[in-house]
Amino acid sequence: MIEAGGGSVRAGAPVREIVVESNWATGVRLADGTRIDAARFVASGIDAPGTLQLAGTEHFPEAVRAKLANWHWGDHSLVTIHLALNQPPAYAAAKFDPDIDRAFNIFFGFDDTDQVVRSFERCKASEFPDFPMGNGACNTLFDPTYAPQGKHAAFWWPFAPYALPGGPEEWDRRKPEITARLLAVWRGYASNLTPDNVLATFLLAPLDVERGNAAMRRGAVRLGAYVSSQLGINRPHPLLAKNRTPLEGLYLCGSSCHGGGANGGPGYNAANAIVADLKLARPWTPIAPPEWSG
Ligand SMILES: Cc1cc2nc3c(=O)[nH]c(=O)nc-3n(C[C@H](O)[C@H](O)[C@H](O)COP(=O)(O)OP(=O)(O)OC[C@H]3O[C@@H](n4cnc5c(N)ncnc54)[C@H](O)[C@@H]3O)c2cc1C
Repeated sequence: MIEAGGGSVRAGAPVREIVVESNWATGVRLADGTRIDAARFVASGIDAPGTLQLAGTEHFPEAVRAKLANWHWGDHSLVTIHLALNQPPAYAAAKFDPDIDRAFNIFFGFDDTDQVVRSFERCKASEFPDFPMGNGACNTLFDPTYAPQGKHAAFWWPFAPYALPGGPEEWDRRKPEITARLLAVWRGYASNLTPDNVLATFLLAPLDVERGNAAMRRGAVRLGAYVSSQLGINRPHPLLAKNRTPLEGLYLCGSSCHGGGANGGPGYNAANAIVADLKLARPWTPIAPPEWSG
């Protein structure tokens, strides 16, 4: 999403251009040609390389352009199998640890470190892992509104490559086979996931993630790999590290920035930068900077 002053633009009305006039980001232009003027700033929550393209790469130093042109999207994505169920998964592990039936987030699919290493190597080689592993939950145990009364909904998120042998489109062709395979692995941990219990399945592939969210290129769920060259002050680049850009009024607030995915850090940092620059009131209490010792 891109915030342009007071208005916000969501997927379905894609932004084609961040309008720049005399080194100021003054608004956005949508794919249908509509222009939305920014009241005072443009804050981009899409990926940093995409933001550069929309604003015009010529406005950014060569070092920034070079790095973001080679942005590391990551060697793995996620495939999600969703289940509609009569009964929640009954994990065999509950026999020695009954708390598993009260845990929201359950991680399964591997028995040792070698299998973890192999799984990520397979993803890097664009092969489906032979030990699919990841976290999942049975949402209805905690919020029954996820399913009709008395029924259940559960999901599992194994790590997976963006492309399979033959290309990313192979996901469309291989969904039935991969769904059956993942269900069989899950059944190894929860034996009641039998055909009479499983009412329906739905598989969301890495290619679907990219199709549904132009900022998650190559199924990059955090808008860029977590590698040292893309973490901390390096995310996305030291010259953009404080959520500001060389263009007046253009801020980055998405997961390509320091803080990464889904914790709100990039948005919080960008909001602080914006209110400081524009001398606006801050309707929140700033978090104190960390105290360093040693
Ligand atoms: C299957 C899956 C599971 C995940 N699981 C976890 C998890 O367990 N824990 C966790 O921490 N994170 C998880 N994530 C990652 C998390 O969803 C992301 O880190 C987070 O959504 C990133 O937030 P964001 O605001 O930076 O970007 P996004 O949420 O990607 O928002 C960017 C928005 O910009 C829109 N957009 C893109 N291009 C344009 C354009 N040109 N014009 C207008 N709009 C545009 C997109 O449609 C999108 O709405 C998961 C992601 C996926 C896909």
